[in-house]
Amino acid sequence: MTQWKPVIGLEVHVQLATHSKIFSGSSTAYGAAPNTQASAIDLGLPGVLPVINARAVDMAVLFGLAINATLARRSVFARKNYFYPDLPKGYQISQYELPIVNHGRLLLPRPDGSHKQVRILRAHLEEDAGKSVHDLFPGSSGIDLNRAGTPLLEVVTEPDLESAAEAVQYMRMLHTLVKFIGICDGNMQEGSFRCDANVSVRRIDDTVLGTRTETKNLNSFRFVERAIQYEIARQIEILESGGKIVQETRLYDPDRDETRPMRSKEDAHDYRYFPDPDLLPLLLSEEEIIAAQAILPELPQQREIRYRTEFGLAPDDAAILASEREIAEYFECVTRLTNLPKQAANWITGEVFARLNRDEAAFAPSKVTAESLAALIARVADATISTTMAKQVFDAMWQGEGEPDAIISNRGLRQVTDHREIEALVDAVIAESPEQVAQFRAGKDKVFGYFVGSVMKRSRGKANPQQVNDLILARLRAP
Ligand code: ADP
Ligand code: MG
Repeated sequence: MTQWKPVIGLEVHVQLATHSKIFSGSSTAYGAAPNTQASAIDLGLPGVLPVINARAVDMAVLFGLAINATLARRSVFARKNYFYPDLPKGYQISQYELPIVNHGRLLLPRPDGSHKQVRILRAHLEEDAGKSVHDLFPGSSGIDLNRAGTPLLEVVTEPDLESAAEAVQYMRMLHTLVKFIGICDGNMQEGSFRCDANVSVRRIDDTVLGTRTETKNLNSFRFVERAIQYEIARQIEILESGGKIVQETRLYDPDRDETRPMRSKEDAHDYRYFPDPDLLPLLLSEEEIIAAQAILPELPQQREIRYRTEFGLAPDDAAILASEREIAEYFECVTRLTNLPKQAANWITGEVFARLNRDEAAFAPSKVTAESLAALIARVADATISTTMAKQVFDAMWQGEGEPDAIISNRGLRQVTDHREIEALVDAVIAESPEQVAQFRAGKDKVFGYFVGSVMKRSRGKANPQQVNDLILARLRAP
């Protein structure tokens, strides 16, 4: 049997998180009543002139820097001509020969610690089209043009990806990155981050690439994975039985978990690209690039490495804390204030995330500020309260009851660290439990928990657990 090698290139549409559209002042907010957010400019009505949204350009520049790309000092908007019901003006404004971002890369970590480089050929600015609505009017379709003119950055890889899993890894990494640098909200259900997957297969010793298909508009990581797997298997089967792959555009149907032909593939000349006469070339100055460099944050990949090496965090904790900008900054702030990175990591990945999950909420540092969490961690570190008490205090903080010190004193939670007081409790419990003492001394280690439990209960949870443990052990081991 011939060995086949999949070849995959992705075109990801990143919706830029601007308030207004790329060439007009209309709002980009999601979910408005149909056709209330499309202006004459978005519709390309006669007599209007598009003006580039400077924020969209800033975001493209930031992205270019984040992927180590070359930024074009002069890029050009072009008209891509085609008619579709959701593009009634007959062309989409995009960039063609001279895109703003060229030749960048992402490095995908491999399990063995090495990296696979995925080359990003280009990223260009363009406007989105409208949307056809097929389920609203029986027997006919509606068109909602609210999305027309929404700014997109289309990020195109070289055909460097070699499996569905690798394609998903790349897409996840890109998703994390664009959210982290604040250029995209990453909401895939709303279509803010979606992908076209180009797939071909070739024999292992072939040097030329096979004919590819392009599966459009995949808006979940799972769909990307499934669609690519399906395409690879479908193409291999055709080639093995002596057939030929037709270059075409396909659609993935999640209900049937298969791809189906949508239309035969257009070539670039079908689109009759030409420079948009209404828009000046986009010029980028040295100052603008320097300004962008200054606001580019330390990126998730670098942070993750730093959290492991500088703070000694476990890889999973480092990865999750570095994946979102607000979480990373929150973690770093708590760490700066306490100098206890591992405790900070435990509190955030444990208590904070558990509550966010329970409330199905996104991370918001305002609920328990970094300063408040740091203060709580400090009270555990200086033995004012035990970890168990601290969880109660944290709960109260989460309910909005205020700062840890106030909660500790209001609830009388101060733990008992007075040695004599604890000694008295331990001695009382031991005196009352000759049977358990005998069991422990006979080698039944498990009864140790009984002693700790009894002492803690008697102290109403306030005895310092470490001291309790140490004292019980000392007493039980004494002859
Ligand atoms: P378009 O889709 O506009 O025709 P390109 O020809 O530049 O644009 O290719 C788009 C994407 O297809 C790129 O991501 C590229 O890496 C990928 N690609 C090109 N050739 C192949 C191939 N033989 N197999 C798989 N992917 C390919
Ligand atoms: Mg394409």
